[in-house]
Amino acid sequence: MTGRSRHRPLQKTIKMPRIKALEGGNKASRGQISHQAIEDYLKTIYMLSQEESPVSTTSLADARNVKPGSVTGMIKRLAELNLVEYTKRRGVVLTPSGEQIALEVLRHHRLIETYLIEALGFTWDEVHEQADILEHYISEKLEDRIAAALNYPSFDPHGAPIPSKEGIMPDQKTAPLTTLKAGQRTTVSRIDSDEDSELLRYLAERQLLPGATIEVLSMEPFNGPLTIRLDGREQVIGFQVATAVLVEIPSE
Ligand SMILES: [Zn+2]
Repeated sequence: MTGRSRHRPLQKTIKMPRIKALEGGNKASRGQISHQAIEDYLKTIYMLSQEESPVSTTSLADARNVKPGSVTGMIKRLAELNLVEYTKRRGVVLTPSGEQIALEVLRHHRLIETYLIEALGFTWDEVHEQADILEHYISEKLEDRIAAALNYPSFDPHGAPIPSKEGIMPDQKTAPLTTLKAGQRTTVSRIDSDEDSELLRYLAERQLLPGATIEVLSMEPFNGPLTIRLDGREQVIGFQVATAVLVEIPSE
């Protein structure tokens, strides 16, 4: 794969069916901003708001890898489109229509990743890059057909919940593996980072996948390594890796 350059012709030539909620939007106020940029921002704000709400412009700039100045400009446009509410020095929250778009883009992203793996034989470390592009271009009809072909999944292969067509996020209560105590046993729910291919390959080699049964045998202090038992086999994994492994919260 040659990365980004391969995708550029696609973005230029394909006429993209716009996400419904944006269609009625005021095109003049949207100006030169592409629907893809708008959707990417809304998605990022949605994800960051799971940790911090309102979302600060600094966090948003970090996450989008741009200067705070260009974030402020974008937020102003999104506010004009009634997709976010912005309070100076506090940050930004999604309006209901902003959230609707964010959830629809996430639904596209996660359905596409699932489809690429299940139907086309992609591995779980190579689908994020594809989905990040395609999520902005698939029609409602294609979305429905993909969902049907997959038998309407609620979670993607990384364990991330797939919002329903109505925009309902499936319930998922998880905690990082590092919050467990020695002796506790549980099931892996989700890998928190679907864009880190190297990490995903590392975890796959160790069979540390959603659905695996895992027991913490010991944990070194000061964010040291963890010894775990995974499907009967003992392994040592680093603390940083373990923070990305989200597990079902054990009952005791
Ligand atoms: Zn992804």
